[in-house]
Amino acid sequence: MIKTIVKSSAGFNGLELQERPMPSPAGHEVLIRVKKTAICGTDVHIYAWDDWAQRTIKTPQVIGHEFVGEVVAVGEHVSHLRPGQLVSGEGHVVCDTCRHCITGSPHLCRRTIGIGVNGDGVFAQYITFPAGNVWICDEQIPLDVLSVLDPLGNAVHTALAFQVLGEDVLVTGAGPIGLMSVPILKRAGARNIVVTDINPTRLQMAAQLGATATVNVAERTLEDFLASNAPALGLKEGFDIGLEMSGSTAAFSAMINTMANGGKIALLGIMPAHAAVDWNKVVFNSLTIKGIYGRQMFDTWYRMAALLQSGLAKEIAPIITHHFPYTEYEEAFKTAYSGQAGKIILTWD
Ligand code: NAD
Ligand code: ZN
Repeated sequence: MIKTIVKSSAGFNGLELQERPMPSPAGHEVLIRVKKTAICGTDVHIYAWDDWAQRTIKTPQVIGHEFVGEVVAVGEHVSHLRPGQLVSGEGHVVCDTCRHCITGSPHLCRRTIGIGVNGDGVFAQYITFPAGNVWICDEQIPLDVLSVLDPLGNAVHTALAFQVLGEDVLVTGAGPIGLMSVPILKRAGARNIVVTDINPTRLQMAAQLGATATVNVAERTLEDFLASNAPALGLKEGFDIGLEMSGSTAAFSAMINTMANGGKIALLGIMPAHAAVDWNKVVFNSLTIKGIYGRQMFDTWYRMAALLQSGLAKEIAPIITHHFPYTEYEEAFKTAYSGQAGKIILTWD
């Protein structure tokens, strides 16, 4: 039997450590011994059993989708992977047959299934994983960093959605993904990177990672900040590029208010279903809004691997602030829920 972390039943605090039988890989799967997993906001939504979780999760379900581990066995149809390889994986499983899948844009597949969301996840000592979703890791990169490739891929996908070289960029939300985007934007040549949040600890981390300026929007509005700081930053009309990484309607509105005409917004944050936006500002200021879901398969992964090898691994390491053995999952989730943390890792070795 193996240990797993399960959302056992509907309701707050319904996570449990449960034993499950040792899984065995089907023909196109691999068996992975999990070394480390990281807690994502999605897992916290499931833990807290909010509206989204109630609509989406079918209990009982093993949760989690951010991991690094070692291949221990491969299914009979798997020839490109072998036991002993250090791996992570793309948590979106696509259909491989639809228009988008067969024309090279599988990240647009309508039949995408989320591991740990629409089915059992990776918070377990052993998991089976579709071989086509496995990413072979560079063993020179620290295991902690390899356990957060999934959100780092979100950051890479969003930060590089538009050309940022020489541009003034606004990042709303300094959660782990917003924080990860700061060094990526710097490497991509952004001129200014202004980061907003309502959490001083996270804003301090953003500053340490190289944000040009941070704004605590619980204390002053972004518009107010720009009224006194725009000239020093060289901003004449507003931001050229916006990365929405908070999921807050207030943040998205402030972004729309402060974009230069013709500005481009990459929208990663998941808003409440009927979030209101001043559409006239979008129209008359000729803004572009691009929704971002997941990672591009596997373009984002290749780019991310190259960035990590050329120094990004060291830059993002401070975003990982806590480690807990998986048995202390309750403490780990409480810490995540408090918002007073960066990325939190569960160790399974
Ligand atoms: P997170 O919840 O840890 O971070 C969000 C941050 O936004 C927090 O630090 C919070 O304090 C801050 N915030 C709240 N209100 C704000 C406001 N008014 N202005 C500025 N900041 C504010 O989340 P994360 O893990 O970093 O993920 C970022 C967002 O991306 C979340 O909304 C998440 O659900 C979403 N997400 C989307 C995808 C996708 O594929 N589209 C994938 C992963 C995560
Ligand atoms: Zn498809």
